Amino acid sequence: MIRKTIHDILASYDKNDLTIATVCSHSSLQIFHGAKQEGFRTLGIVVGEQRRRFYDAFPLGKPDEFLMVENYKEILTLTKELQDQNTIVIPHGSFVEYLGPDMFMTLQLPTFGNRDVLMWESDRDKERIWLEGAGLTMPYEVKNPKDIHNPVIVKYHGAKGGKGFFIAKTYAEFKKRIQSDKPYTIQEFVMGTRYYLHYFYSPIQQNAYKLSKGSLQMLSMDRRDETTIDEVQRLGSIAELEEIGIHPTFVVTGNIPIVMRESLLPKVFQMGEQVVEKSLSLFGGIIGSFCLETVVTENLEFKVFEISARIVAGTNPYITGSPYSDFIMPNLSTGRRIAQEIHYASQHDQLEEILS
Ligand code: AMP
Repeated sequence: MIRKTIHDILASYDKNDLTIATVCSHSSLQIFHGAKQEGFRTLGIVVGEQRRRFYDAFPLGKPDEFLMVENYKEILTLTKELQDQNTIVIPHGSFVEYLGPDMFMTLQLPTFGNRDVLMWESDRDKERIWLEGAGLTMPYEVKNPKDIHNPVIVKYHGAKGGKGFFIAKTYAEFKKRIQSDKPYTIQEFVMGTRYYLHYFYSPIQQNAYKLSKGSLQMLSMDRRDETTIDEVQRLGSIAELEEIGIHPTFVVTGNIPIVMRESLLPKVFQMGEQVVEKSLSLFGGIIGSFCLETVVTENLEFKVFEISARIVAGTNPYITGSPYSDFIMPNLSTGRRIAQEIHYASQHDQLEEILS
């Protein structure tokens, strides 16, 4: 139903006069900057003057125009106006969160990527069917808390940015901390180093790592900076702190650039390929940017604990390119790569294949 609507909206667009829009947050500076580099008009949807003001300090990342709204739901009432400007929306994590998944799914504006990915990514069981079905290794799940015999991480469903997650090493520790009124998942806590891998899949271009349809790039990778877990040792060991009731948390506050041993790259591409190929058979394919959140163990095995199916904020350190994208072209951010894909698709009459 929504596909037909989007098809009709796109048919009415002037493809030589497109506007790239997103919500002012998350990776918006990069999205606007990249869109401008590729010659698009840009529009920032923003709630509140205070949020708008700081864009003045970043002229190259500032959208050409702002659309001030009282709250994000108001976007739904403004779609006609946005359609009149031939607007294409670039969704990012905050965009989907602020609007809410249900409203995002019904948004009557062409959006970059495949909306159907949302239900595969937001439901932990479906996500596991997808990723394990693709052949990736995920941390094992503990169904019964009484079976906790090794460190686990407890994740509340729908929790954003790692909020409220906790580590337990025994059933007793789990019982002490759990808020059983909220649904949760218990997952093996994987010991190793974290790498958040930023891929870009084009179903319409053949100029990178070739897949059964289209091709795959790996544009960059980061490590998240998470408070308090990443700095908690400044105060004492976790065990000491837990004794006095101080527990580490996993709230993301920033992103750190990183590169990986080159010998691991074949595996990185293989994992990306498996995820894309499986997505093609499950729901017509993930499109554009996505991120695999991984831990590499001491045996150099990847365990994938999460997928984000759109641009992640971990790409923000790479506005002028990364040690990987520099081998594709200079100054290639993920924001710019998205704009390039839209540009290519509009020139080849293939917008429908990358928008939904
Ligand atoms: P998530 O919301 O699933 O991205 O998890 C938030 C943070 O918790 C991650 O960025 C990691 O630092 C940590 N984390 C999540 N799952 C695991 C795991 N299975 N093993 C170790 N650390 C994890």
